[in-house]
Amino acid sequence: MSCLFCKIIEGSIPSAAVYQDEQCYAFADIHPQAPVHVLVAPREHIVAMTEASEKQSALLGHLLLAAAEIARAKGLAKGYRLVINTGQDGGQTVDHLHVHLLGGRPLHWPPG
Ligand code: AMP
Ligand code: ZN
Repeated sequence: MSCLFCKIIEGSIPSAAVYQDEQCYAFADIHPQAPVHVLVAPREHIVAMTEASEKQSALLGHLLLAAAEIARAKGLAKGYRLVINTGQDGGQTVDHLHVHLLGGRPLHWPPG
């Protein structure tokens, strides 16, 4: 299995865990773009939103709610951003779907 995030989720590549449950694993981004930068990934290997289907709607909702709970736990009362980069033009670099949770500073819009 060659997927970086699958290896992180199974523990063969180390990571700084932030939250985990039976459906997802959340860990600190290795190159943080904000004071809080957490990645929330499903344990199931889904390549990207382009590959997701209706069967995974509950799981996708769970990722967003887990990210919101982590944001609460991190004290991001002033707000935060959830991002799912998708495909080449979307800037996705790891082909295992993940939600970025970014916060702890004002974030600009539009993004680059
Ligand atoms: P994306 O570009 O949306 O696919 O996001 C991939 C993210 O994974 C980037 O923000 C990287 O900094 C992060 N990343 C890459 N390798 C690791 C790693 N070993 N541990 C934690 N985060 C990583
Ligand atoms: Zn994977």
